[in-house]
Amino acid sequence: MRQALIIGGGIAGPVTAMALQRAGWEPIVCEAYEDASAAQIGAYLTVAVNGLSALAQLDAHEAVMAAGHPTGTLSFRTSSGRHIADLPIGGTPPDGTITHSVKRRDLYRVLTDEAQRRGVRFEFGKRLLDASVDADGRVTATFADGTRRTADLLVGADGIRSRTREIIDPTAPKAHFLGIYGVGGFVTDPAVHRELGLEPGGYTMIFGKKAFFGYLVAPDGEIWWFANVASAQEIPKQDPHRTRTELLRRLAADRSPAARIVAATPDDTFVPAFNQYDLPTVPTWHNDAMIVIGDAAHAVASSSGQGVSMAVEDALTLAYCLRDIPEIPTALAQFERCRRDRVERVVRYGAETSGDKATSGPGRLVVRLLTPFFLRRAAKAGVRHLDWLYDHRVSSGVALPRNPHPAA
Ligand SMILES: Cc1cc2nc3c(=O)[nH]c(=O)nc-3n(C[C@H](O)[C@H](O)[C@H](O)COP(=O)(O)OP(=O)(O)OC[C@H]3O[C@@H](n4cnc5c(N)ncnc54)[C@H](O)[C@@H]3O)c2cc1C
Repeated sequence: MRQALIIGGGIAGPVTAMALQRAGWEPIVCEAYEDASAAQIGAYLTVAVNGLSALAQLDAHEAVMAAGHPTGTLSFRTSSGRHIADLPIGGTPPDGTITHSVKRRDLYRVLTDEAQRRGVRFEFGKRLLDASVDADGRVTATFADGTRRTADLLVGADGIRSRTREIIDPTAPKAHFLGIYGVGGFVTDPAVHRELGLEPGGYTMIFGKKAFFGYLVAPDGEIWWFANVASAQEIPKQDPHRTRTELLRRLAADRSPAARIVAATPDDTFVPAFNQYDLPTVPTWHNDAMIVIGDAAHAVASSSGQGVSMAVEDALTLAYCLRDIPEIPTALAQFERCRRDRVERVVRYGAETSGDKATSGPGRLVVRLLTPFFLRRAAKAGVRHLDWLYDHRVSSGVALPRNPHPAA
């Protein structure tokens, strides 16, 4: 049985492992952190319909949906509370999937648990240092703990700061700062949503005067929120108290529940400031025995809500190519042919959607005046203008000589 070393136990790693296992490979996931819980930074993630449909092909969608709750709509408001438009986050496909939001730690745990339940081997505390292709075409990887491993293939699912990407191409681009930092948290006391009169359901997104603010109310009454703040430079690690004070100052001018939500967030569920990045074009994704997928190959801005779904689509596509094409280098080339146009289009879409949040100063006023016009126009068009994004389904025929489902 052919063996794959999968570097990274985030999203792309466990899903690739499950997909390769079905394709008849023996995967081993090597994760840098000592245990799965340590990698669970951040607040929560949206898993869009296209990602859930890809997970459905692995029978892994139900576990993910059970860990979160449906959030199929975005409702946009101005800083004064005026309603702008409602937009769906994908439709409701016949397979019953609908966009869900899941806490990051729950999503990582569910995918890792599901892969382990199916017999996938995970090794924690295994940080990839280096790798090379041997004369026989196999790949040897060395890890920070001094161990080495050899396999037929190495899949770099090691995120936006991928070591695998550097090994494949030392001149590969690095993550690009989007001019935004994020903050987030959870209000655990259900009395707060009642006090504010907020209903459980989809997202509310507010174009605040000095920060973009998004929140949702989970079925149990917990409020999940994030804020995006424009910043010319990456911000260094900050004392959470200082981050909260600064955010409250920015939200004070808005007529919205944002400041009350931030103030009501307990310290232990407050996610301190994190810079936001994307990775537009990585010219080289693979050599003959190593490949990068997910954020390691093409990180998208978080505002697209597509990072998880792209990682899952990649994982499935790669496994189909390796299942149906016997020569590994040819299979890797076919994977790139199937995926590059689509993921780069999604990265561009993400950069556009985060552009309005990154603008500061007088430009921000222009954005605040123009954005409602574009959002209303998009709402009139319905979900159709994003069909290319949400209706994409990974075809199990991706490895056919003529790919019947090229990127839209
Ligand atoms: C603030 C924020 C909000 C986001 N919101 C959304 C959203 O709503 N919806 C959405 O779809 N996406 C969202 N994203 C993007 C999403 O989190 C990523 O696209 C997704 O996690 C990518 O999965 P991945 O498996 O490629 O990488 P990751 O999830 O980053 O996993 C990479 C793994 O590799 C491990 N690793 C790294 N280096 C090594 C090494 N040398 N050796 C071994 N292991 C290593 C890491 O520890 C990690 O566990 C958001 C991202 C951010 C930052």
